[in-house]
Amino acid sequence: MIYLSADIHHASLHTGNQQHCDISELNTAKLFLKRIEQAQVKLTCFVTGRCFLEEWADTQVLCQSDWVDIGGHTWSGFTPQIWHRICNKLLASYNGPYWYQYLDTLSTIKIIESKTGKRITCWRNHMYMHGPHTDKILSHLGIKLCSDGVKRDNFQPLPSKYGVYNYPINIIPDHEHLYHAERSPQWVEHWQKRYSWSDDFGSESYYIQEWTELVLHQLKTCEAQGRDANILIHPITMYLCDKFQCFDKILDYISTRETAWLCEAIPASQSSPAYIKDTEDTSHA
Ligand SMILES: [Zn+2]
Repeated sequence: MIYLSADIHHASLHTGNQQHCDISELNTAKLFLKRIEQAQVKLTCFVTGRCFLEEWADTQVLCQSDWVDIGGHTWSGFTPQIWHRICNKLLASYNGPYWYQYLDTLSTIKIIESKTGKRITCWRNHMYMHGPHTDKILSHLGIKLCSDGVKRDNFQPLPSKYGVYNYPINIIPDHEHLYHAERSPQWVEHWQKRYSWSDDFGSESYYIQEWTELVLHQLKTCEAQGRDANILIHPITMYLCDKFQCFDKILDYISTRETAWLCEAIPASQSSPAYIKDTEDTSHA
């Protein structure tokens, strides 16, 4: 099984990628969607709350697709940044204090519900920023699965103590491993030195052709080992790298495999109060 997801950000976030792009991120998502629909591949779209407020006409196109399931991606992508940096320094929570993160998450869930009529069950934090309050807040607000972070050897959703399942990406992600837009070899070198950045796939960045070969190899290895692949690909990154040429190759392969939305990866005995009670009872037995 392949779980393909995409993160989508509102234009007013002004990310580095957005500043290098001649169309809005949601417009890159619409071009991405055309390919997804043609390939008949299921896609989970993690979308910021502000997209629903500021760019609803474009966001609606994603929401109406039979091939898309929507998840939350924070209200505003952690802005203002200064506030989140202070929270990180003083409270060791980049997401903010409990009450703030709770309201951010609730606002996102609520605007998606009011625009689409659907209550979301899946979540990914912007920048995979999984804070100390995240599991508790997501559980309280009815989110069943959270896909933060990168773990190459994890192939299934694992329950947190609050019930919400965590299912990190297990295929090399695009944005932080690709040379594109502002991420020139010089930029990446400086960034690596400054932050000593690395994830489960190392610290290297690649040009799009080489990264595509890595992705295809990893997807095929997962398949050969009978494991599920959880892969994130950003539409804006694919647009900026080569206007989807390599993504089309990846999609050619994915379209020959079985795909599912991340909401379909939620185990049947998910985080209902009965489930929490059952596990507690078992642990005392
Ligand atoms: Zn993001």
